[in-house]
Amino acid sequence: MKLKRIFLPILKFFRSKKFSSFELEKVESPGPVFTSNFPSASEPLNAIGEHIVESGFYQSLALIDEPPIVDRQSLFQNITIVRSKYYGKILALDGVIQLTEKDANSYNEMMAHPAMFAHHNPKRVLVIGGGDGYVLHEVLKHPSVEHVDHVDLDSEVIDVCRKHFSWGHAWEDPRVSLHITDGASFVAESEDNYYDVIVQDSSDPDTWDEYGQEIDLPSKVLYEMDHFENIYRILSDQGVFSFQAECFGIASDLVGIVEWRKQAIETGFRSARYGSLTISSYPTGQIGYILCEKDPQSSLSKSEIQTRFDNITNSGQGTTYYHPKLQSSSFDLPLWVEQRIYGSDSELVLN
Ligand code: SAM
Repeated sequence: MKLKRIFLPILKFFRSKKFSSFELEKVESPGPVFTSNFPSASEPLNAIGEHIVESGFYQSLALIDEPPIVDRQSLFQNITIVRSKYYGKILALDGVIQLTEKDANSYNEMMAHPAMFAHHNPKRVLVIGGGDGYVLHEVLKHPSVEHVDHVDLDSEVIDVCRKHFSWGHAWEDPRVSLHITDGASFVAESEDNYYDVIVQDSSDPDTWDEYGQEIDLPSKVLYEMDHFENIYRILSDQGVFSFQAECFGIASDLVGIVEWRKQAIETGFRSARYGSLTISSYPTGQIGYILCEKDPQSSLSKSEIQTRFDNITNSGQGTTYYHPKLQSSSFDLPLWVEQRIYGSDSELVLN
């Protein structure tokens, strides 16, 4: 997640004076006096966090004072797993939090299930990115699934997540084929009309360096128009595409949301809706996905979705965040966000 931010390299800064800037000031006011629980500069904070320079937003999670469980450099990115005080293990790529054990359920269930339940009978699924395996784990809960291709650029992310997270057995499911390559190339070479559902769980397309220069990241290609056109081409006639689409509380992210949704409509999707979810470990506590449908009229009814959901729950593979009400309510947005994303296109929201 998280477009256009400067991230602070983890570990190296745990005990750095940089943290002095995160000490909240004691506020003197006519009303109550607030003091922070943050340690002062003389009591350095052992934490991992992100600084959104464009809005001055900073957020961090306190870590347990012990060496990282994983800290290695792959061909593509720095991969770290650290243990936090309240959020369990945390996976970070290039210093940016990808998930925490405590709240990864919200993001990953909402990346997977609205798309899976939007299709009347998903058999062939493609997961792009998502090297942590959580989206894959959720997709596999659907008994209609016969085959999942999982494509991620970086085998080392998969290796460490397989070992260190409870859902790491997902790749052992015989329905899964793992492909270590660039997602855009994989999609470009895939056959027409093949997949029922595609879920793209990518990391940020770009970031900024400390001088304010934009830097393209490996997932940039996954947000380009020709990739969206290929996604559309390889989906079956009633195919559904869900992709990570950043948060609306960061101005440059909102620009991205509007652009990507427009791209999806231009490639031919009849509906492209931004769904929102809460996740306290991501900056601003919110992120979203764009659910694109070729044929929104083919969706299941509420009662059909409920039945399929109950079957999954009764099989012992229930969810903890997703439930069928969110199938529609996650697309209900604050007025200003809805106006900004859809403008005069609001009839498409209702599809
Ligand atoms: N949920 C996370 C978030 O938004 O913070 C993203 C999770 S997942 C770990 C992101 C994955 O995308 C990583 O495993 C990374 O290797 C993969 N990735 C990045 N660029 C890619 C590309 N071009 N093709 C395939 N996978 C890619």
